[in-house]
Amino acid sequence: MTVAHATRGPQVADLPQRNEALLVLDIDEVVLHFIAPFCELLAEYGAKLHFDSFKLTGNVRSISTGAALTGHELDGVTERLYVEQRERQKPVEGVGAALSRLSGVADIVFLTAMTPTFYDQRRDLLDAADLRWPMIATERSKGGVVAELAQRWRGPIAFVDDLPPNLEGVRRSVPGVHLVHLMANPDFRPHLPAMPTGTIRAGNWAEAEAALRRIATGA
Ligand SMILES: [Mg+2]
Repeated sequence: MTVAHATRGPQVADLPQRNEALLVLDIDEVVLHFIAPFCELLAEYGAKLHFDSFKLTGNVRSISTGAALTGHELDGVTERLYVEQRERQKPVEGVGAALSRLSGVADIVFLTAMTPTFYDQRRDLLDAADLRWPMIATERSKGGVVAELAQRWRGPIAFVDDLPPNLEGVRRSVPGVHLVHLMANPDFRPHLPAMPTGTIRAGNWAEAEAALRRIATGA
């Protein structure tokens, strides 16, 4: 039996290529806020996220009873956030201007693990915010996709994500990729697990832009 891993967005072979360097960017918590609107939505359900450790399951609890929401309930909240993302998810401060400047030295591709069913909502949101770079939404491992991209982009490649396991996966698949950690919401930062060796930690888009420019230009 084959497990189908859905993907939506352009084929790697069809992506426009203008630069030697490539920046591959996760979306949730890198390009768009996720945790902040997730917390706002939880409040509508009478629940609150406690930043006690680096996970959602178990840390989201009912305000009235203290009972933890189940994984299934959290999946429902996440799905509603993605359905309503156009109204709820805002660009991370400074991302548009930083990417406009960086696009002069590197090609840019968004790579999101969001369920590809919500591709159209996300594409609309990004276009409305003038974040018009190509997006691939996939259930495949990000490492596999970055490996395909590395077949076409022979210059430096940077991968930006908020989740250390995604950074690990990309490092395993494509050892030469430069890793940058960026997580818009600061509240989980004290609990972050170890990062792959050499990961650059950016606290905001000003720091991320400087790091990505150095990587792209080899400076
Ligand atoms: Mg993310």
